[in-house]
Amino acid sequence: MKYEPIIGLEVHVQLNTASKIFCGCSTRFGAGPNTQTCPVCSGLPGGLPVLNSEALKKVVLAGLALGCEISGNSTFDRKNYFYPDLPKAYQISQFYRPICLGGYIELPSGGPPGQPMRRIGLTRIHLEEDAGKSIHSEDPEHPISYVDFNRSGVPLIEIVSEPDIRTSDEAYGYLQRLKSIMKYLNVSDCNMEEGSLRCDVNISLREKGSEKFGEKVELKNLNSFRSVKMAIDYEIDRQAKLLAAKERIVQETRLWDSRRAMTFAMRSKEEARDYRYFPDPDLPPIHLDEKYIEDCRLALPELPDRKKARFMEEYSLSEQDAEVLTSARELADYFEMTVSRGAVPRRASNWIQSELLSRLDDVDRIGAFIVTPEKLAALLSLIEDNTISGKIAKAVFGEMAESGADAETIIREKGLRQVTDSSEIGQIADRIIVANPCSVADYIHGKEKALKFLVGQVMKESRGKANPRMTNEILLEKLSRLQRLNEGGR
Ligand SMILES: [Zn+2]
Repeated sequence: MKYEPIIGLEVHVQLNTASKIFCGCSTRFGAGPNTQTCPVCSGLPGGLPVLNSEALKKVVLAGLALGCEISGNSTFDRKNYFYPDLPKAYQISQFYRPICLGGYIELPSGGPPGQPMRRIGLTRIHLEEDAGKSIHSEDPEHPISYVDFNRSGVPLIEIVSEPDIRTSDEAYGYLQRLKSIMKYLNVSDCNMEEGSLRCDVNISLREKGSEKFGEKVELKNLNSFRSVKMAIDYEIDRQAKLLAAKERIVQETRLWDSRRAMTFAMRSKEEARDYRYFPDPDLPPIHLDEKYIEDCRLALPELPDRKKARFMEEYSLSEQDAEVLTSARELADYFEMTVSRGAVPRRASNWIQSELLSRLDDVDRIGAFIVTPEKLAALLSLIEDNTISGKIAKAVFGEMAESGADAETIIREKGLRQVTDSSEIGQIADRIIVANPCSVADYIHGKEKALKFLVGQVMKESRGKANPRMTNEILLEKLSRLQRLNEGGR
């Protein structure tokens, strides 16, 4: 392609404070319409906003974790526009002096290992209030619209990236990383279905090698990371075709239609001046001293990069394994709990990444998974002490994930305990040798592969319960004896 996509993301993250940003109303999701409102958040005349100190702390934590400069002096501004879900006809936001400036998110380069990380710059993070929600009746006979103000005044942070993103994969990786960090910080649940993480995309194309930006299109209505990726790919294609045909790109806002997998024009894009921003006279400036910022810095948890390095060091995991296990805080916690219950780290890592993650649709729910870290550790210790083979353990794990029973119970009830009695394995081996004279002859005449087949037959006869290492040794011993006899007889 002769064009280079220039992509920037604006991500709104709902903070998980108990109360709203400028009043004491609850932020709980899913309550009956307009049951969590007061004169302040429903915009009644005379209602005065007071800043929620938890919301302030959370935006500072987010800023510190993303390498931003925290402003000691920031202010709130009014963003003026009329919409039914905005009862004051302005949104309290930060325009002139946002609380966080700069910062970055680092992504794996995507190239061979050892390459430096790709750094996507941040322009700013600011604090603002959410709007209410319009609900439209789906009955064409009665086209009525309603407004629910429960969401009005829920605290939001808006994280604006620099136009540093070049591909839809990078946008996807950026969002995943951002979500992971927000969840590590416990500043948001980042639940996209409930709207606590929302993303708009700014995208333009320019000829490769050119420094000038092309006309920018804003994409909205992206309700999953996947739709962000698909909408970007669609838009790159659409704009490239227009440019190739020497047509003009219109600067506008386009909506993503996930059912038809395409974007369509919604309105011409408004600019900052259209909003008539001005300082909010009801809210004093926010002054943060060094001590406040330092206290927040000390309160930061171990973040993904640091945790990944520690996992590699402390548990001797590969970079790839440590990357996966630390990609979500809940996953990292699950792994560490499993290890703290006695599991060998590398085995725990393999099992969590293969058996466990393949059974989970959403890694966020790992904390509620029916097989707890204690139960997984107990299962893995049974492989360690040769009670069961790794293969049987996988079947046992499947049962555990279905019923929630513990490994010991399943093994006892199904009689799956590994056979480690050498005379019992020896008897099976004798039967297999008698039943397979051709394979035995092959082995004696130098076909090593025949041993593998005979081991397999013993394992099958024992219904997978014979200890594989012992089976191998016992068969080898018996076959060697036959071989000696055979040579002596010649
Ligand atoms: Zn309220």
